[in-house]
Amino acid sequence: MSCFHLFTKALRQNQSRNRTAFSFLLSRSFSHQSERHSFGIAFDIDGVILLGNAPVGGSPAALSRLYDGTGRLRIPYVFLTNGGGYPEAKRALELSQLLGINVTTSQVLQGHSPFKRLVDRFENEFVVAVGKGEPAAVMSEYGFKNVLSIDEYASFFENIDPLAPYKKWTTKLPAVQSAKFNEGARRNDVFSERVKAAFIVSDPVDWSRDIQVLCDILKTGGLPGRNVGPQPHLYFANDDLEYQTAFPSERLGMGAFRIAFESIFNRSHHHSLEFTSFGKPHPSVFKNAEIVLQQLVPPLHEDPYNNAQSFKTFYMIGDNPAVDIRGARQTGHPWFSILTRTGVFKGKGNHDKFPADLVVDTVEQAVDYILTKECAS
Ligand SMILES: [Mg+2]
Repeated sequence: MSCFHLFTKALRQNQSRNRTAFSFLLSRSFSHQSERHSFGIAFDIDGVILLGNAPVGGSPAALSRLYDGTGRLRIPYVFLTNGGGYPEAKRALELSQLLGINVTTSQVLQGHSPFKRLVDRFENEFVVAVGKGEPAAVMSEYGFKNVLSIDEYASFFENIDPLAPYKKWTTKLPAVQSAKFNEGARRNDVFSERVKAAFIVSDPVDWSRDIQVLCDILKTGGLPGRNVGPQPHLYFANDDLEYQTAFPSERLGMGAFRIAFESIFNRSHHHSLEFTSFGKPHPSVFKNAEIVLQQLVPPLHEDPYNNAQSFKTFYMIGDNPAVDIRGARQTGHPWFSILTRTGVFKGKGNHDKFPADLVVDTVEQAVDYILTKECAS
């Protein structure tokens, strides 16, 4: 968009401001309306903003440019990650502390966020949540009322994991969780109530135990140790084969776990595994991000020139060509993809199979490019 366009748009906004003084009240968390822009930014986290828990690529400085001098958001942006394991509010707080900015819960879109849409279907059904962090807390936060983590669930079944005695770590639950666990024990009769669905919320920690127990749940119709039954539903928060952490080369992700589990299940069961996976690169994830970005801008209902449809460009900044760039490309206009070299992609030029609209070294360069192009420095 040209600077002239932005200028005339600002004039329209000034006119509308007289008509809609009340809307200022709605914009307290957003910066001054005359700075309203017609673009939004989606940032991947791992390999773009953070490596492990350490900021990378000048991310704190880059993100700070999206706020005004008083700390209010002036450019709408979200974090669009396939990662997860903790409720969005907790992740927002963690990101705020790591990056020195004020991240709100609505700005955090994680791989498992689409699971919220399945609450109507499974609200009171018995479901199992798998993965690092607090997978059951994530599901409870979304409104699932009858959920156990796979740690809790497996602990009911003696000898379900024959390798448990050889594992040096402990999955013993801390006191607070233990109380919840006992509540769950009363609520769920795991020996007679069938598991209706398993949700892989975040990267599984104990692959051998989780593969074993998921096979038990899914082959038996939700009652381990019993006869064969129809497969309960299975949902994965993402299908990333690899992702970047602080280690120099990529680490195996949830997609790698899915391949391992699916191979074993299909070799040992007469029906092929049925499952649904979410996360990038599915266009639905990007479409949802568009809605959230638009919602971050305070509404001006009386101004037809300045509503949600005025967004001209959505930028995706990612490090993984097969996930971030592919997803933005598949979603198409008005998404513009920017590939950084701080994570999975480390090539000199562009990626062969999923070329980005722009390749830069760091997220700081990406934000600089966007703000210059949009005359919003
Ligand atoms: Mg990444």
